Amino acid sequence: MKVKQRKVVVIGAGAVGTTYIYALLNSGLATEIALIDIDRSRVEGEVMDLSHGLPFIPPIKIHAGSYSDCADANLVVITAGGKQAPGQSRIELVKKNTQIVKSICYELKNQNCKAILVMVTNPVDLLTQLTIQELKWSRKRIIGSGTVLDSARFKYMLSQHCNVDARNVHAYILGEHGDSEVPAWSMTHIAGVPIRDYCQKCNICDYKICHKNIADNVRESAYHIIDYKGSTYYGIGLSLVRISEAILRNENSILTVSTLLKGEYGLNDVCLSIPCIIGENGVQKIIEAPLDQNETAGLKESAQTLIKAFQSIS
Ligand code: NAD
Repeated sequence: MKVKQRKVVVIGAGAVGTTYIYALLNSGLATEIALIDIDRSRVEGEVMDLSHGLPFIPPIKIHAGSYSDCADANLVVITAGGKQAPGQSRIELVKKNTQIVKSICYELKNQNCKAILVMVTNPVDLLTQLTIQELKWSRKRIIGSGTVLDSARFKYMLSQHCNVDARNVHAYILGEHGDSEVPAWSMTHIAGVPIRDYCQKCNICDYKICHKNIADNVRESAYHIIDYKGSTYYGIGLSLVRISEAILRNENSILTVSTLLKGEYGLNDVCLSIPCIIGENGVQKIIEAPLDQNETAGLKESAQTLIKAFQSIS
């Protein structure tokens, strides 16, 4: 039996792109990885360094790539572009990264690419929408990593606070991957118990204050990491492996990716994160969860922020 090809093209050989590749190599998920960057010597160096670990991991082909590699790729992941400086918001990166993403879309248009595309470059929601606009592919096939990382941070911080395994905490951050993100407390469960009921029974903290602190910490964590060490890449690297698994293994996993809304949640023509069923075709289904009043208002506000910012680039 022929082994099913799982070819991943990564555009951007910086900290995020190479950390993702390192985690992907360890996962054994892909059969081939091609790496592209405008800095060719950086690509050569990264590919050599990563290749020297191949004797220790499941078989895989990894090489310096070109845009023609996208023609038979299953997944294209874009991590190319400028990153936040200390104190800088993600939206403030828009001017520089719009030009970079447009130049990448120009290259992709010339390939007969059938892959699912995952945008990671910030501001990820705006650049996901820009890519859909430029490439004119189905909205299902172009997604942003969105708040998959923020939701992971949320689960981790809740798990630490409640002293429960993070894998048993179900929690989602919705909206912008940025300052206007919305913690969906009404969808948060531990052991199937809604978090407010869980906290009332547990009764070890003033949960209303703790919930606020946790949500603030999730929103501000990238700023703290950038202040401490310059940039974030391990958390996003693992988040990207999780998204890749859902796509390449056709898992139908529920992940808060950034997707173009067309009427869902009463919102139109804006990319933001909501829970989606993710499989080999990208977004198989958008889940319309019954949010509470505050969350609905928060999501609307987040959408307005993004719509306004997108007008400045389109
Ligand atoms: P980095 O500076 O380490 O790497 C960026 C790479 O992009 C460089 O190697 C550069 O040569 C390359 N590049 C620039 N223009 C290019 C082009 N036109 N074509 C191909 N390659 C090009 O940055 P990083 O830390 O890897 O971050 C990359 C992006 O990911 C940033 O925008 C950052 O904000 C974003 N990011 C997103 C998330 C998320 O959750 N979505 C998390 C962390 C970082």
